[in-house]
Amino acid sequence: MNRVYNFAAGPSMLPEEALERAASEMLSYKGTGMSVMEMSHRSKGYIEIFDHTVSLLRELMGISDDYEVLLLQGGATGQFAAVPMNLLKTSADYVDSGNFAHGALVEAKKYGNINVVASSRDDNYTYIPEIDPDKLNKNADYFYITTNNTIFGTRYTSIPDTGDVPLVADMSSNILSEPMDVNKFGVIFAGAQKNIGPAGVTVVIVRKDLLGRANPNTPKVFDWTKMAENGSMLNTPTTYSIYMAGLCLEWLKKEGGVRVIHMRNQIKAKLLYDYLDESKLFKGTAHRDHRSIMNVTFRTDDPDTDAAFVKLATENGILNIKGHRLVGGMRASIYNAMSVEGVQKLISVMKQFEQERV
Ligand SMILES: *Cc1c(COP(=O)(O)O)cnc(C)c1O
Repeated sequence: MNRVYNFAAGPSMLPEEALERAASEMLSYKGTGMSVMEMSHRSKGYIEIFDHTVSLLRELMGISDDYEVLLLQGGATGQFAAVPMNLLKTSADYVDSGNFAHGALVEAKKYGNINVVASSRDDNYTYIPEIDPDKLNKNADYFYITTNNTIFGTRYTSIPDTGDVPLVADMSSNILSEPMDVNKFGVIFAGAQKNIGPAGVTVVIVRKDLLGRANPNTPKVFDWTKMAENGSMLNTPTTYSIYMAGLCLEWLKKEGGVRVIHMRNQIKAKLLYDYLDESKLFKGTAHRDHRSIMNVTFRTDDPDTDAAFVKLATENGILNIKGHRLVGGMRASIYNAMSVEGVQKLISVMKQFEQERV
């Protein structure tokens, strides 16, 4: 079977091993005579699958018992609203580092007083804005960042110290890509479809002392406290996505876990950025100091040349390399499941294209 190199930003490629395992268990999961899709979410068999996914996530990320791990719905976008609904009493500080960060703060403004303490919006989010400690509100209910900016290809290289103010992070596009000290965060959330598994499930990791603060108008499916009390099952969870996420996490564990995958991710990113830095045709669009190792954004000086490259790449089995419309050019999303060979293949096609053009 011909598998392509899929550089999509999300939903994105999944480990082949996980897909094969799912295929082999499709019609009858462990001799039950039914697919996981057909199992009751209250059944013993399914609860085991659910608990297994959560415990793998805890193990791989080093999440302590001080935190609840919730598997919810509504995507990261749902959490843009859930965060203020669960935490906002008076005001919160936000860093505007990309389109998703901006979307989150626009959503949060519906619920209260939001201060934008730093922004790179005027430069089309090509860098992570500096945070001036004097601007921080020591009484803020929380401080909000987006650790990796999927569209623009930037990331935080160090996590800001917010003191006693709980740090809330949208980690949708770099969760599990590098070791992160969960203890630095009050809340971490992520849509699954970039680096966890298929779309559908949303991971929310919340420090237990932050529970019990939700606005009474919060819909119960978005109320972290109520969901924590009910094992994320106040309603039917995304049963199959959670099962698939478990298979992907098993793969990650077998590969050696986050530390090992991080080394591989650094190798992949370095190969690509080194080539971009020496290329006379292609150039990276993100500020060097803040380059993402998950989403590599680049372009030529000419949109028609970009389009011609995308076409050549597609002919060579390299798919979904076209950049987001807000940036143009190209974007190679090289999440955990992308192999080093996939990146090498991309670079060889870029070199071929460059030789023909320059
Ligand atoms: C993809 C993405 C989102 C949106 O996720 P949905 O699950 O589609 O709501 C939000 N934030 C970041 C950083 C993303 O990469």
